[in-house]
Amino acid sequence: MKAILVAGGAGYIGAQTCKQLAAAGFLPVTIDNLSTGYRQAVKWGPLVEADIRDRNAIASTVAQYDIRAAMHFAACSLVGESVQNPVKYYDNNIGAAVSFASGLIESGVKSLIFSSTAAVYGIPKTDLITEDHPTIPINPYGATKLAFEQALHWIARSSDLTFTVLRYFNASGADLDGEIGESHDPETHLIPLLSKAAIGSGAPLSIFGSDYPTPDGTPIRDYIHVVDLAAAHIAALQRMLSGGSSSIFNVGTGVGASVAEVIRTAESILAKEMPRRIGPRREGDPAVLVADPSRILHSLDWAPRFSDLHTIILTAMWWQKNRFY
Ligand code: UDP
Repeated sequence: MKAILVAGGAGYIGAQTCKQLAAAGFLPVTIDNLSTGYRQAVKWGPLVEADIRDRNAIASTVAQYDIRAAMHFAACSLVGESVQNPVKYYDNNIGAAVSFASGLIESGVKSLIFSSTAAVYGIPKTDLITEDHPTIPINPYGATKLAFEQALHWIARSSDLTFTVLRYFNASGADLDGEIGESHDPETHLIPLLSKAAIGSGAPLSIFGSDYPTPDGTPIRDYIHVVDLAAAHIAALQRMLSGGSSSIFNVGTGVGASVAEVIRTAESILAKEMPRRIGPRREGDPAVLVADPSRILHSLDWAPRFSDLHTIILTAMWWQKNRFY
C-alpha cells in the first residue's frame, strides 16, 4: 500500500482527505502537532504527533512507512486573525512550511500537494478568476500562502521535488457520514457560525457589511464542499504519481453565492427566519471571489458533486447538531 504523509491530517480538510486516501487504497500517515486539529479526526491511518519543523520526525516517518508523497494542510487559515497577528502567519505559513519542504527533500520525498487559497488573488479584476490572474493579496493570510507557492517554485527548480498547488475557494460543508466537520475555536467562518446559530448553540449571525458592490450588497464567495475539495487532492495525487509536472489549480465551482443567499438557503432548510444583524465590514475581505475552474476540470479526473449550497449547509448543520469533537 502506498503511504502518503499528511501534514495537518487532524484538521477539517486534512482529515477528510485522509478518509478519501484510505478509500482509494493509500495509507494516510498524519503528522500534526494538534494545535488546532483533533486526535479523534485521525481514524484512517497512524498519527505522528509532531511539529512539521521536526526534521527527525519527518525522516523517521518517511523511512518507517516508505512515504511516496506528501500533502501540506498544516497552516493558519483565518483572514481576520492574519491581519491582527501577521507574525504568526509569516512564522507558520512560510517558516514552518519551508522547513517541512526541506525535510521532505532531505528524506527523499518527491511529490508535494500544497493547500493554497483564493486569497492570493486579492481584489479580482475579472468576474471569474483563472490561475493566471495577477496575485496581489490584501491580507497576510493570502500573502504568506503566495510566498510559500513562490518558494515551492524555486525549491522545485533546485531539487527533484514536483508540486501541485491547490488554490481553495471557500471550503465548507461536512462529511456525508457525519464523521468529520468544521470545528474551530474561535469559529469565524460563515457556514459553521450560521449552522451553530441555526441549532441554537451560537450567537445570532452578524453580516459583515451590506454595502459591497454586489447585487444585494453582501460579499460573494465560491463555496466548495469539503468532500469535493478532498477529492481534488486524490485526483492531483494520482496525476503526480503518474508523472504529472508541477502545476497550480483553482478548486472552486465557478458559481458564487452572496452572504444573503447563504442565509436564505439556511432559512429554506429550517423553514424559519434566522435572526441576524448587519455589522461593519471585516478588514481584509474582498467583495467577490469566484473561481474559473476550467483548468482543473480539464486536467484532473475531478468535478464538484456536492457543492450546491443546499448540500453544503445541510451537512454543516447536521455536523453541528451531532458533532463529537
Ligand atoms: N461573514 C459574515 N459573517 C460572519 C462570518 C463571515 O458576514 O460571521 C462573511 C465574510 O465577510 C465573507 C463570507 O462571509 O464575505 C465568507 O467568510 P468566511 O470567513 O466563511 O470565509 P473567507 O471568505 O474569509 O475565507
